[in-house]
Amino acid sequence: MNIVCKVIPESQMRPQVSGADWFFDKKGDLQVRVSPMSDWRYEVALMLHELFEAILWKQRHGTSVSEVDRFDQLYYETHEDDLDAGDERGCPYRKEHCLATAAERILSAELGIVWSEYDEELATAYPGPAAVRKAKAKGNRVRPQTSARKPKARP
Ligand SMILES: [Zn+2]
Repeated sequence: MNIVCKVIPESQMRPQVSGADWFFDKKGDLQVRVSPMSDWRYEVALMLHELFEAILWKQRHGTSVSEVDRFDQLYYETHEDDLDAGDERGCPYRKEHCLATAAERILSAELGIVWSEYDEELATAYPGPAAVRKAKAKGNRVRPQTSARKPKARP
């Protein structure tokens, strides 16, 4: 199995994905995507979270992400942001997400990341599909033009 991790523009994320994403392609290779952030360490921490989560998902559930996508879709439609979808009761990948957060925290501490600043950037730069739709409906600009993050979704 190959693993391909890339930083890509938010506009190239899968539909309904904001900030970070993982999926298994037709060959069964793991694809991880994160949006650009202001600090390479943030991008790597987010990437590690997605990678860790996806590997645990594969071990426990295989390579289909339809259950994950179904949950995320519903979550996006009912929440302002999707940063914490993985923390919700009933989230099919909650255990994987929580363990991935632990790994992300360990790496972050070692890289000198200030978690509150990292988290704030994720929340403001990539607020999530529902928040984006609402802001657009109100005629507001949604995302700061920073090269700095959200959610997919699945962090
Ligand atoms: Zn997660």
